[in-house]
Amino acid sequence: MRYTADLHVHSHYSRATSRALNLETLYQWATIKGIHIIGTGDFTHPKWFQELQEKLIPDGNGFFKLKNLPSQLMTAQAIDVRFCLSTEISCIYKDGNKVRKNHHLLYAPDFETVAKINDKLSTIGNLTADGRPILGMPARDLLEIVVSASDSAYLIPAHIWTPWFSVLGSKSGYNSIAACFKDLTSHIFAVETGLSSDPAMNRLVSALDQYTMMSNSDAHSAQNLGREANLFDTACTYDGMFEALKTQKGFLGTLEFFPQEGKYFMDGHRNCGVCFEPTTSQAHHGICPECKKPLTIGVLNRVVCLADREQPQPPSHAAGFEYIIPLPEIISEIKGMGVSSKAVQQQFTSIIGLFGNEFTFLRESPVEDIKQQLGPIYAEAISRLRNRQIIPEPGYDGVYGTIRVFQLGELKNK
Ligand SMILES: [Zn+2]
Ligand SMILES: [Zn+2]
Repeated sequence: MRYTADLHVHSHYSRATSRALNLETLYQWATIKGIHIIGTGDFTHPKWFQELQEKLIPDGNGFFKLKNLPSQLMTAQAIDVRFCLSTEISCIYKDGNKVRKNHHLLYAPDFETVAKINDKLSTIGNLTADGRPILGMPARDLLEIVVSASDSAYLIPAHIWTPWFSVLGSKSGYNSIAACFKDLTSHIFAVETGLSSDPAMNRLVSALDQYTMMSNSDAHSAQNLGREANLFDTACTYDGMFEALKTQKGFLGTLEFFPQEGKYFMDGHRNCGVCFEPTTSQAHHGICPECKKPLTIGVLNRVVCLADREQPQPPSHAAGFEYIIPLPEIISEIKGMGVSSKAVQQQFTSIIGLFGNEFTFLRESPVEDIKQQLGPIYAEAISRLRNRQIIPEPGYDGVYGTIRVFQLGELKNK
């Protein structure tokens, strides 16, 4: 069966998340976006874990169903959304005389395994302070706890290139996956590429050839679900999904943010308004010309540093990927109004009603149908997106980039 999964999500117990981030709104927005399997996030948080146990029932295949389904937020095609038990851990520790900070996604097939993992982790740090707890333990030791809890519990390194908190990041990362996980490296089979990189960039680094490239939204609000997602054509079960991630059989690849839209794509300084391509920051010796302090080195630069290829060379068995732009952003560009404006929201709701869900509209609806229902401008926008004809303004040092499909002023004449 074909299905879509977004496996990195947070609850309202994580810092800087929407208060409305609960199972019901995740369910509602999964339907609107077109996502079948959604991570619960935050299973390490005692209160959230309790809520998961109260509100979810096992579906017998390693995923979970909501006991009481919420009403629809807007008219969308019905999807039988399932949850996958997941969390994210922030490890901060010293290794080789350097402070290391990296984030990891954990997955478990049942509540018992989660309880085992939580028991161990609660002896190491405070799990109640944050839905994404900070633990003073090496990532390698976290992996050991996960694999000893169950043969079906997994760890996948999160957003592996972001400068501050990732396995390969420029600020506190390693130069390889193996340097981080040491003797347990063979338990790592996939990596999350993060919003600021796409699979093509990752395929410049031959050391990553053996890993499946996974992509998720890392949503801190339900509206942001599915900014990135994974596509499968295999058994819709916990084991089926992870088997596909391990073997790449039945894994159809990912839906990707244009990496320029990610907030750590280029190098720069947010407060100084400095955004540099890797070659420009090299010419400045990595120093900000405004404040004379070291620049935040972004994902593109870091990939180029570790790359040993000029051109991406995906292994023959590797899955492909498709780019998407969140639909509210496309509507916002066409209307010339803010993403959260009423007019944009209304148009979004009406498009979901007409086409079933966001992914179907962005990826599959025939351009002719879009033209008939919404007019030539929407048809043109979607065909440009599908042909990757976009105008990016790259993100840097925590500032999101923007992706436009029309030239400035182009819409005035239409
Ligand atoms: Zn993270
Ligand atoms: Zn500066």
